[in-house]
This record gives sequence, structure tokens and C-alpha cells, in this order.
Amino acid sequence: MASLDQLTSQEAIDLENKYGAHNYHPLPVVLSKGEGVYVWDVEGKKYYDFLSAYSAVNQGHCHPRIVGAMTKQAETLTLTSRAFHNDMLGKYEKFACEFFGFDKLLPMNTGAEAVETALKICRKWAYEVKGIDENEAEIVVCENNFHGRTTTIISFSNDPVARKNFGPYTKGFIKIAYDNLEALEAELKSNPNIAGFLAEPIQGEAGVFVPQEGYLAKAKALCEKYNVLFIADEVQTGIARTGRLLAVDHENVKPDLLVLGKALSGGAYPVSAVLADNAIMDVIRPGNHGSTFGGNPVAAAVAIAALEVVKEENLAENAEKLGKLFRSELNKYIETTDLVELVRGKGLLNAIVINDDEESETAWNICLALRDNGLLAKPTHGNIIRFAPPLVMNEEQLLDCVSIIVKTLKQFEK
Ligand SMILES: *Cc1c(COP(=O)(O)O)cnc(C)c1O
Repeated sequence: MASLDQLTSQEAIDLENKYGAHNYHPLPVVLSKGEGVYVWDVEGKKYYDFLSAYSAVNQGHCHPRIVGAMTKQAETLTLTSRAFHNDMLGKYEKFACEFFGFDKLLPMNTGAEAVETALKICRKWAYEVKGIDENEAEIVVCENNFHGRTTTIISFSNDPVARKNFGPYTKGFIKIAYDNLEALEAELKSNPNIAGFLAEPIQGEAGVFVPQEGYLAKAKALCEKYNVLFIADEVQTGIARTGRLLAVDHENVKPDLLVLGKALSGGAYPVSAVLADNAIMDVIRPGNHGSTFGGNPVAAAVAIAALEVVKEENLAENAEKLGKLFRSELNKYIETTDLVELVRGKGLLNAIVINDDEESETAWNICLALRDNGLLAKPTHGNIIRFAPPLVMNEEQLLDCVSIIVKTLKQFEK
């Protein structure tokens, strides 16, 4: 096998197995091309992408406008580090701050880094503005959260697979039930050292768990009452995925710290950010925090283009409309079967729960069959499958996907 030859799927999988760390368990499909809502494997078979790289590719694969901005910038200037200024960063920061309605932006690369950044800003604010004694600040987080993979972030995960044997863990986090305002208020009321409340507006990895209506607005009000920062991790839910620009927009909430990643670049490049107003962001002074690649000119050019696409192609409106159609079409099928318990979600972030226990293989096997039928999705748990296509999908394509999904599910009826 010469290294430049086109590999077969099996050869590519074998190479990963032999030379790559086994930190993922991918669906056995090897992709080599993407365009819009479609991806192709190395044998040329075409699929609908119903994962969108965990909602990073909201704008569709290889969007020409984003790729154009990226290649143009890549030919001009790629990296200066923040030791020097570059002529793209300020433009991007202004654009993104106006786009999301904040005073300032701190640029990073991955979602986990942006979450880490928000936690650091929150702690520093607690000591310098709120007046908590040094090293006493605590941050409230939710059970079944997913915020990334750093040592600190997994310290407050309750997924044993993500945590075990990675200790000792970072202190200063208190875990409460998600979607439970009483638990939040009890904690905020009894503990003067709370600096922030970190939450996902919809818990994506947990299985697209949508909190009750009003939860986000009331949680934000409680944070205000107790002078605690509301930190929204919108890495997965943000950038039009749930039918609004941000998932918090459904409840007209403005977070104190907004964490973005994934679709901030349309999947073209790792770009993440934390946004906040001056009263909070100004606690960060030169030398406090940084990243060699954060805010590089390619990232800046890509992010501006990715956000322009979201606005100009009305992706939030499209996600809202197609999401309603998707859930109503699937509900028609669910009424006829015992195989699927329910469909839930907002916009085009949805999941079905299979009538089976969490340890079962059914969801995985359904995803293999979906693949064979031309649609790629992945279980979040043993019995939950997330459905999150690119937001550039049209109604005809969505209905085609619904028919693939229903046809496949029918294969599993007993
Ligand atoms: C994916 C994700 C992250 C982590 O992003 P990475 O780019 O993988 O580090 C953080 N929070 C949420 C809600 C996510 O979905």
C-alpha cells in the first residue's frame, strides 16, 4: 500500500487502530469529502450528515464563502501570535461583539479552552469584584454536564469513563441537578462563596435534554439576585442550532459569560471564544491568560465569514422551521410503534430515545443501519440517538431524511 494511494475504508480504519490512540469509538465509515448536508466515503457512497461534527458544521460542509475567506487569509498571513497585533483580530472582535451584543471577546481555539477561560474569568471576578476570599470561590455546575476534556473540566463531570484515573481533581465546583431551580437557589442562598453558575442551555451530550420552559430565565434571575455570574456554555447549542442565534435567546436571557466554539468557524477551523461585558472582562489583564493560536488571522477571517453565513442564509429561522417539521413527522411514526419512546429537542438539535435500557446496543445497531441506508448519526448513550443535520438543509432533504430514519427504525421493530 503506497501512502499516496486512495485507501479503502478498511485500510483507513486499520491504520487508525494501529497508529492512533484509541480515545474514540467511531462509527465504521471513512469520509473523504463533504459538501453542504452531504458527505461521501472513500468508496464514493453518499450520506446525509446527521451529526454535523457535533454541531460544528451548522453552515454545511465546505461552505464556499467560509473556505474562500480561509484560503484567502491563509495565503496572506496565518499566525503572528499575540506578541504582535494583526489586522484581522480587531475587525473580528468588533464584528462578533456586535453580532452577539457584548462589549468584549476573548479568542481561544477549542470549546474546552473557552470553558476554561470562562471559569478563570469567573474566579478572578469573584475575588476582585465580588470580594470573595482568595481561593474560596466555588462554581455551581449541573449533573450530566458536558463541557470538554481538560483536567479541570472532567473534575466536575459525572461520567465515570471521562473521569476515572485522571485525578487528583480540581476543587471548587458544586454539582446540582440540572433543570432544578430549587436546588440552585438552595445552593446560592446558603453559600456566599459562589462565583458562578455554569450550564448548557440544552444538555447535548447528556442526550439532548431540554429543560422546562422558563428554567434559563429563572436561573439567570437567581444569579442576579445572589450576585453570581451566569455562564452559558453554548458551544453546541449556539450559532442557530436550536432555532435562535443562541439557545438562551428562546428565553431572552443574556448570560454574563457566553462560551462559543464549534460552529463559530462552520467547522473549517478550531475557533472558540468567551464574550462578556466590560465590568467582567476587564478583570483580565496582560499576562493573565492567553493562547498562541487564539485570535489568529485565519481564525478571525473564518469566524466572520461563518457568522455572516448564519445571518444571510437565515439559518436560525430554517432550523426552527425544519426542527418543528422533523419532530412532528417523527411523532407520527412514534405513535405507531413501541420501539421509540419519544423525540425531543429544539430547532435542529434533536434526539430519539429508544425503548431499551442504557446499556443496550440497539442505538448503535440502528446507527449502523442508518449508515447503510445513507444517513450518519451517532448514539449519545446506549439508547439515545442525536439528530443534528447541517442547518443549510432544505425541506425536501429533511423529508427524505425522515423517510430514511423511519424506514430504518421499522427494520428494528419486533
Ligand atoms: C463540544 C463541547 C465542548 C468542548 O468543545 P471541544 O472543542 O471539543 O473542546 C464544550 N461544551 C459543550 C457543550 C460541547 O458540546
